[in-house]
Amino acid sequence: MATPLEWTVLIVVATIGHVMAVIWHCADRHQWKMCERRIYDLEIPDKQVKRELKNSIHTPIHAAFLGLCLAAGFFENKTIASFVTSALITTVWAEIWHYWSHRAFHLKPLHWIHLEHHKSHLNSPFTAISFSFTEKLVFNFGMLGFLAAVDTVFSLNFYGVAGWYIGYLIINSFSHANFELKSKDYLKWTGRIITSTTYHSLHHSRYTGNYGLGTRFLDKLFKTEWEDYEPLYDRVSTDRQPLKHLRERVESPDGR
Ligand SMILES: [Zn+2]
Ligand SMILES: [Zn+2]
Repeated sequence: MATPLEWTVLIVVATIGHVMAVIWHCADRHQWKMCERRIYDLEIPDKQVKRELKNSIHTPIHAAFLGLCLAAGFFENKTIASFVTSALITTVWAEIWHYWSHRAFHLKPLHWIHLEHHKSHLNSPFTAISFSFTEKLVFNFGMLGFLAAVDTVFSLNFYGVAGWYIGYLIINSFSHANFELKSKDYLKWTGRIITSTTYHSLHHSRYTGNYGLGTRFLDKLFKTEWEDYEPLYDRVSTDRQPLKHLRERVESPDGR
């Protein structure tokens, strides 16, 4: 039986994706200053948002899977050290699992699983919660199946794992907005390793490349990163010139 605090965390996991989507939607609609640096100078069709909202009914599946793990007796370690190590293990595994399962979803026999998310070529704040039921199922089986297996030899902490899910749902929400939030100097520092909203926008508009979740590491290693990402980021963020159409490319300074 879950404790009141565990129930609260599960409810947050079940709803935070929707809460964030509504916040970004309001920010965009009321033209908050943070939305000034648009990535694509294009309008999102109303029917896209309706479809995304319909698909978002599957989002609480993350909380359902976490609840099942708790009910089955996993993730019972209560120490602070286990909270930190569990969050770290979950973060590293999520990068690996997301990258490879995402690349597998782009293979012809498996693409039907991922198709619903890719119907959105231009991201809206609701794209982040628009997935097929099967995609969420596979994602959670891979995430929590692996972590449950680790838990049998190295006891993990529920709040460390659930904390990653909350962070993921918040970050993934603004990773699907049509405006860049990161600073213009971002690529000189953390942006060398961490992705951005522009990064994932390219995956949707061009349909391939930039498969990584939170980091660029695996895309760089396996040469799947779009090579004009950095000049494009500078154009959006520093020059404040949004892209005019979905297939537009930006020349890199060295002519690549
Ligand atoms: Zn994809
Ligand atoms: Zn996406």
